[in-house]
Amino acid sequence: MSRVAYVNGLYVPHADAAVHVEDRGYQFADGVYEVCEVRGGRMVDERRHMERLQRSLRELRIAMPMPPAALGVVLRETIRRNRVREGIVYLQVTRGVARRDHYFPSPDTLPSIVVTARATDQAKAAASVASGAAIITVPDNRWDRVDIKTVGLLPNVLAKQAAKEAGAREAWFVRDGVVTEGGSTNAWIVTQAGAIVTRPAESGILRGITRTVLFEVANRLGLTVEERGFTLDEALAAREAFISSASNVVVPIVSIDGKTIGDGKPGPVARSLRDSFYDVAEFARK
Ligand code: PLP
Repeated sequence: MSRVAYVNGLYVPHADAAVHVEDRGYQFADGVYEVCEVRGGRMVDERRHMERLQRSLRELRIAMPMPPAALGVVLRETIRRNRVREGIVYLQVTRGVARRDHYFPSPDTLPSIVVTARATDQAKAAASVASGAAIITVPDNRWDRVDIKTVGLLPNVLAKQAAKEAGAREAWFVRDGVVTEGGSTNAWIVTQAGAIVTRPAESGILRGITRTVLFEVANRLGLTVEERGFTLDEALAAREAFISSASNVVVPIVSIDGKTIGDGKPGPVARSLRDSFYDVAEFARK
């Protein structure tokens, strides 16, 4: 089956899908994106992802390219045309196409919109949850508006490549000794006392949708969550560590910079959060 992408109003063969060379996303990373999990052919937490998209656009003063309901139709149609049951749908909105100039283009410039969807390898995902993943740490050298989900991800790309070259799954950014987040995930630990700790999302990290849902999952399971920064030393001494994201929900971490976390196996807290995630997450209609 051939893949299909939605590009500025048209469903086109994925192999031919393209934007203009003067698209501001291409020229300046002047755009934002969202990634939503697809499960059983339905989007997970569409509402929260749409709300975050609108916030990101507002922060950058880019117009919403179409009303949220219409965008929902495009997302669903892209999922349907690609026959995705278990996978992700990706959405990108940029400030549009204009002659290259740093200033905002004229207000009548239409934002560009691209939507793609693809299946993910469920066996591979299950294997990494079963075995747990390794992470490395890198200095957090990003700008201070990482709360906006922009396509400007070069520090994240370099961090994740460094992780890959070190045989690890993810890189945790560390600023002033405190872990901020992963290259494409939020970072969590479980203390020896059993408290779940993750950094506040006021600034310095992306407010992950999975992170938000996990607060409620933890609450339902009667687990204590502390929203505060944790140091790398605290992480190394933790009982468990894990990462969260829409594409992989919860993945247990078994080593940091080559040092074993807990007993070196995926921990029970990460497992129970993962197991109960879909009891709280919202499923969109097909
Ligand atoms: N932090 C960063 C830097 C990310 O890129 C992502 C997801 O792409 C996340 C956190 C997790 O966010 P979400 O749970 O909404 O996928």
